[in-house]
Amino acid sequence: MGELSLAAVAVGGKRVELQEFPLPEPLDTGGLLRVEACGVCGSDIKKYGASPMLPTILGHESVGRIARVGETAARRWGVSEGDRVLLEEYLPCGHCVDCRSGEFRSCNQTDNHLQSGAIRYGSTPVEVPPALWGGYSEYQYLHPSSVIHRVPDGVPAEQAAFALPLSNGIQWTQLDAGVRMGDVVVILGPGQQGIGCLIASKAAGAGRVIVSGLSRDRARLELARELGADRVVDVDVESLVE
Ligand SMILES: [Zn+2]
Ligand SMILES: [Zn+2]
Repeated sequence: MGELSLAAVAVGGKRVELQEFPLPEPLDTGGLLRVEACGVCGSDIKKYGASPMLPTILGHESVGRIARVGETAARRWGVSEGDRVLLEEYLPCGHCVDCRSGEFRSCNQTDNHLQSGAIRYGSTPVEVPPALWGGYSEYQYLHPSSVIHRVPDGVPAEQAAFALPLSNGIQWTQLDAGVRMGDVVVILGPGQQGIGCLIASKAAGAGRVIVSGLSRDRARLELARELGADRVVDVDVESLVE
């Protein structure tokens, strides 16, 4: 047997088992990521609690170094072994209408709401070879459809793992909502996506950013304030509308 990767496998009902899986080979069109850090998404918490569930390595906000890369993959992705990268969770086909029009995140191949058996990182069960589909693992499989971004060496891994929520914040506030200098922005919920929206809104020059949450979000509302929220509203105590 070849080398193994240790991984945390969610087996349902808030239970996780450490299991070992063989590293896939040969790798011509794919590769292997040596995971440095992986964020915890709200959807991971939901999946972790689900029961029953097919055993799955959760985690889809991975950053790490390319441990191995096949010849074809290296040419296609423009990377070499040792390069530091982060992954999006999507594994789009690359040739459908969505992929070809830049909306690759809506591709059927990678949207398990649209198509059963769709693959994406952090939610594809270990029964689908080569099992290493999630970031809570020593190694993560780099599927040929991986969406890869380079990460500068100077960025600490735990900050780089925040790239996805931060990118969502930029997409939703600056690109989708068109937040501009001086705008007033209201963000409902101080989760990591909400915090990403806050940082992106401030970066776009928003004049006033209001973040709302529940009493149990107190620590997150405090963080929102530290990160520049002009006003935080605990909706259990006061009305956001007023
Ligand atoms: Zn997520
Ligand atoms: Zn596609």
